[in-house]
Amino acid sequence: MKISVIGTGYVGLVQGAILSEVGHDVICIDIDELKIKNLKNGIIPIYEPGLEKILEKNIKSDKIKFTTDIKEGIKDSDIIFIAVGTPPKEDGSADLQYVLRCAKDIAKNIEKDIIIINKSTVPVGTGELVEREINSYLEMNKKNYRIDVVSNPEFLREGKAVLDCLNPSRIVIGLENDEIKDKMEELYSDFIKRDIPVVFTNRRTSEMIKYASNAFLAVKISYINEISALAEKVGADTEKIAYAMGLDDRISPKFLKCGAGYGGSCFPKDTKAIVEIAKRYGENLEIIESAISANEKQKRKMVEKIVEKMEGIEGKQIGILGLTFKPETDDMREAPSIDIIEGLVKKGATVKVYCPKGMEEGKWRLKHLGEKVIFTENTQQCLTNVEAIVLVTEWEEFKNLEFSKIIENLKDNFFFDLRNLYLEDKEIRKLFKYYPVGVK
Ligand code: NAD
Repeated sequence: MKISVIGTGYVGLVQGAILSEVGHDVICIDIDELKIKNLKNGIIPIYEPGLEKILEKNIKSDKIKFTTDIKEGIKDSDIIFIAVGTPPKEDGSADLQYVLRCAKDIAKNIEKDIIIINKSTVPVGTGELVEREINSYLEMNKKNYRIDVVSNPEFLREGKAVLDCLNPSRIVIGLENDEIKDKMEELYSDFIKRDIPVVFTNRRTSEMIKYASNAFLAVKISYINEISALAEKVGADTEKIAYAMGLDDRISPKFLKCGAGYGGSCFPKDTKAIVEIAKRYGENLEIIESAISANEKQKRKMVEKIVEKMEGIEGKQIGILGLTFKPETDDMREAPSIDIIEGLVKKGATVKVYCPKGMEEGKWRLKHLGEKVIFTENTQQCLTNVEAIVLVTEWEEFKNLEFSKIIENLKDNFFFDLRNLYLEDKEIRKLFKYYPVGVK
């Protein structure tokens, strides 16, 4: 099939790459000229394991192309994906301006019947809204094309996006017109052949599935974080609690890892957005609201613990390992590291930071903290002359640190392991005043 993907971010670019990999002809469109120029030259704007290789192969064989020109980008397409951002507005609701701009751009430029698939995470009713926007433009301009807007939310995880897109746990398709079901089956035929479950439903249900899934995962993380706070107080071990809970297949061990709080471009924004959607319909989602406030509390608790154990941090220097919200990504959107660093600086500390892929984004996201944040080039530099190590993101390269060397350059030996990476290390408590999460 001939497919256009509008938006070449974490979702659009990976989705475009995978669709080309499974045999479709893909053209990716973005308003960001530099991004498109770079992509045309084989420079990938995001870090996502495996993406570069797939893109390289499909660019070479002309299966995927890039443009900033929407007219050019959609003229031959059977299907147009919308995969632009839906960031949170001040009140937490999803900002639909980018999605609606796509609707307008599509309306102005289509020259035949078309299927539009919305991959962005959007509030219930957005499919109708997009359809209405396009149809009213077409009517006004006396153009008689049939458009169908389908909801097809994306469930990929950053850092594993290529794998997830190739082997999704499920494909959810929300349609209002059963006549286009065949087209959707053709689009996803490679996945259907491989027995990947496809859930056909109506558009509103599909839009809800995405928010309900993300909110559930956020609740699960906040739940175990809350348990971890109590476990620390009563002298219990959260890692063991989570392990034993997870052996029950009604619970599952996934997303039962305590830590510094969830972050990223999805959970914080999607939990707030579903709460706002509910309010509009006169419902209170109390469990999700609690998960949101528990998450804020968790990040604050990390700072409080550091301040308490170090008996104040005024004038002290602290080394932060990891900025991105999780490993294997360069994305720092709503990363717990931001709140933690802001909290430490507010209490008078200077922080030295190092992250394998987050330095570039870190430099502008933490700019407001000025000289209080020192960017370093590697772990060793970061941990020289600091009084405490705070391990925020569990990057592979932080898993086997040579502490016997590191400790020589430290000014004091506090180690706050916010990901419990060294919990099982027998030497760690001999070398450091070691503070994991959820374990005494
Ligand atoms: P992103 O910010 O990384 O990328 C969005 C891209 O869209 C940018 O390159 C931007 O320049 C482009 N864009 C904006 N308006 C445009 C327009 N009118 N025409 C062409 N291009 C335009 O966003 P993302 O992380 O890929 O997320 C996209 C959507 O997918 C969001 O709704 C998000 O909630 C959802 N989602 C994200 C993830 C994830 O892990 N990032 C996972 C599942 C779902």
